[in-house]
Amino acid sequence: MKEHETNTKDGNISRKDFLSLTGKSVAAGAAGSLIATGILQSDVLAQTSKKAVSPPASIPAGVEEPIVLEAWKSDVDQQSGPTPTPLPPARRIRYAVVGLGHLALEEILPALSICKKSKLTALVSGSPDKMKKVAAQYGIKTENCYSYQTYDQLKSNKEVDVIYIVLPNALHKEYVIRGAKAGKHILCEKPMAISSRECEEMIEACNAAKVKLMIAYRIQYQPHNRKVRELVQNKTFGAVKYIEASNSQGSANPAHWRHKKALAGGGSLPDIGLYCLNTNRFILGEEPTEVFAYQYSTPGNPLFAEVEELISWQMKFPSGVIASSSSDYNVHESRHYRVLCEKGWLNMDKAYAYKGQKLQTAHAEGKMEKQEEIGIAETNQFAAEMDHFSDCTINNKRPFTPGEEGLKDHLLMEAIYESAREGKPVKIIRNAGQGTHGAEPEMD
Ligand code: NAD
Repeated sequence: MKEHETNTKDGNISRKDFLSLTGKSVAAGAAGSLIATGILQSDVLAQTSKKAVSPPASIPAGVEEPIVLEAWKSDVDQQSGPTPTPLPPARRIRYAVVGLGHLALEEILPALSICKKSKLTALVSGSPDKMKKVAAQYGIKTENCYSYQTYDQLKSNKEVDVIYIVLPNALHKEYVIRGAKAGKHILCEKPMAISSRECEEMIEACNAAKVKLMIAYRIQYQPHNRKVRELVQNKTFGAVKYIEASNSQGSANPAHWRHKKALAGGGSLPDIGLYCLNTNRFILGEEPTEVFAYQYSTPGNPLFAEVEELISWQMKFPSGVIASSSSDYNVHESRHYRVLCEKGWLNMDKAYAYKGQKLQTAHAEGKMEKQEEIGIAETNQFAAEMDHFSDCTINNKRPFTPGEEGLKDHLLMEAIYESAREGKPVKIIRNAGQGTHGAEPEMD
């Protein structure tokens, strides 16, 4: 069933079904007015079509048929969502997480606990004390705990299918290549590396080892951003003309690797500006042909002795869209974008945050402007991206955000730095080809 087909006979959806599908993030009172617009209805229909997980078109030899549970709704609990369809624990894809820093401890390990197709079975860390505590907390066997020196021994560990690299950017290449040589599929944090050349080596190594490589672009698995992509590519508000995007935050510790060029590769651009760059490409579905940039770092501020503070750049797309983006390491947190279309606009607050996305639209209705907020149930972005990679591993699919997506972004970031340095626009001669996305993720 396609996303906009409905499973009701007359194509409409009952109020009871609506309430049970929208989940807690949409208040029942607001639902009536939103459904009248037809915008939220498409969300509801999209969710309706996903009540059960569709089996893959073909199941490779040795892979068991997926278990598909019937959707079940209680008469008394009208707010219940779609029936979850987790894989049995024994059939989930097993992850080794490499690097137990901020992101791994606060987001990735907790997300693995709520995944439906993925689970944590091994850890890699340079800190034995920390790893011992984390292993005890998550029930990881001592023999599945590795140091950076013993990392290659993962090759003989039959309890690991995927290695997730969550290290400083400059270490991604080494650990991706060593992981591929160990015969494991690789999920790698963004930015993919610190140069396009490194990205190419990582892709080559994974191809040579016949393992999958996915870059953890979590926004592309986030439902509000996916909804914007759908509305934009369907031209719901007419053609897009201009995008304004910003991802900015404060930073306080000049000793952190993010402020060391050799480990980070750059400053705010590869760390947070990358979200604007990558999300613009994702929602438009096209590749920029030219960029123009400025950058600035406050003189004497030790935070920016090696990497840039602020970078602002424009990208020109073949359809005529111009996207203007910025990232800054020295301002109060602000993560948003606005898409200006012929007959309306879309505005996303907290666009690149871990949660709290707020999607508003406006469009002309006669002489009136109609503004509304599109309510979509939140999901855990990390769990969604890991379950997508697990699905690709189980069903032998190309990941939606493969290594080539990371390479494209690095080629663009190199052009953005060149433009800022030279003070002139830079044409994008090479963009790692068109159509590098893999299989669309199944979203709940
Ligand atoms: P962090 O500094 O909190 O953790 C990095 C880990 O790497 C630490 O455990 C540290 O001990 C270890 N490490 C190993 N070798 C090191 C070395 N030579 N120097 C410094 N640390 C070393 O960083 P983080 O915020 O967890 O970021 C890790 C990766 O995740 C980065 O690539 C970052 O861009 C990415 N990230 C992604 C998101 C996202 O939303 N997808 C968010 C934050 C970070």
